[in-house]
Amino acid sequence: MPSAAGHGAIVMKARPRFLPREALQSLFEALAAGGYRCVGPQVRDGAIVYADLSDASALPVGFGARQAPGEYRLEERGDQRCFAWANGPQALKPLLFRPQEPLWQARRGADGRIQFESAAAPRERRAVISVRACDLAALALHDKHFLHKERDPWYAARRADLLLIAVDCSHPADTCFCVSTGDGPAVEGETDLALTELDRGFLVRAYTAEGAALRDALPLREATPEELDEAEAQIAQARQSQTRRMPDRNLRDALFANLDHPRWAEVAERCLSCGNCVAVCPTCFCHTERDLGALDGTASTHLRRWDSCFSAEHSYLHGRLLRPDTRTRYRQWLTHKLGGWHDQYGRSGCVGCGRCITWCPVGIDLTEEAAAVCAPSGEGPVP
Ligand code: SF4
Ligand code: SF4
Repeated sequence: MPSAAGHGAIVMKARPRFLPREALQSLFEALAAGGYRCVGPQVRDGAIVYADLSDASALPVGFGARQAPGEYRLEERGDQRCFAWANGPQALKPLLFRPQEPLWQARRGADGRIQFESAAAPRERRAVISVRACDLAALALHDKHFLHKERDPWYAARRADLLLIAVDCSHPADTCFCVSTGDGPAVEGETDLALTELDRGFLVRAYTAEGAALRDALPLREATPEELDEAEAQIAQARQSQTRRMPDRNLRDALFANLDHPRWAEVAERCLSCGNCVAVCPTCFCHTERDLGALDGTASTHLRRWDSCFSAEHSYLHGRLLRPDTRTRYRQWLTHKLGGWHDQYGRSGCVGCGRCITWCPVGIDLTEEAAAVCAPSGEGPVP
């Protein structure tokens, strides 16, 4: 069974080796030979999304993506790069923690007795290509919750079957700020295999035994010192290109000390409570459970579905809504994400991917909101 770094895998670090661009298909062939269903980035409906992928030619070759608050546009780059773009709307989250799935089912037998059956997650070896550093950080947070805090069998089964092939981010979007959260743009472990895309090919490094086996099936050669320098310069450039950042201060204490700040009402004037930010966030995992009865009354399926702190029902308790308006819901989202997660998981719930900024229909930027709420009194927002 494949393993992925982060839960019991052998972690190894080796000198990167080089895969020529024209040999990239060999990676897909090696995955197919290993029995993996491969999921990777493709252009669909004007965005780069993860979907089943068996051929290198289906990668977003020559595409880039321009992102800004409330805006995402594909751009043609006019080159052969496959991974010269920052994350699209999806993270690993939907692959491991399904937007909706049955947990168990109750059935009435012929004798009238009711029987309960657990719905196990289907087992399937899956490899995901082009996972970015921010999403690996989010995955580590989900592992903390679903493997160690809750021991969720549906997540655990999919996680055990997952092989990770990460890619260093060479072209962060304007909305990215993973440098300031310490989560990117370079991949530094927590994956099976990692690639750095250069103009003529890819540096390949393995971090686990499964990653090493895959690497050894590829037609690699030694990387030249120039290629290693080029990779280093590319990552330095990617770091420098990020201008957005999370305020560098104790946001947990500052947020909880400012629960009555007027900024919460101001952001609520713009926020639509649509929950897009939560849906695209790689770390948010709030959900609800409900039963779906068969029309003939013989069976009922117990479903788990993604939910959001922006929905009214999410705060329904003992006959009343604890968070009746957008002001209290947005405040809940930000204070939990940037504050409460420190107490629950030992770090912020934000990995700096910027998706909530890009995919917010009104362009609300959580770094600006955190800076405004947490600015010391008498100061303007922290730049
Ligand atoms: S809060 Fe926003 S920037 Fe942070 S991890 Fe979630 S989607 Fe990404
Ligand atoms: S912050 Fe933006 S994406 Fe999130 S609920 Fe409000 S309007 Fe929707």
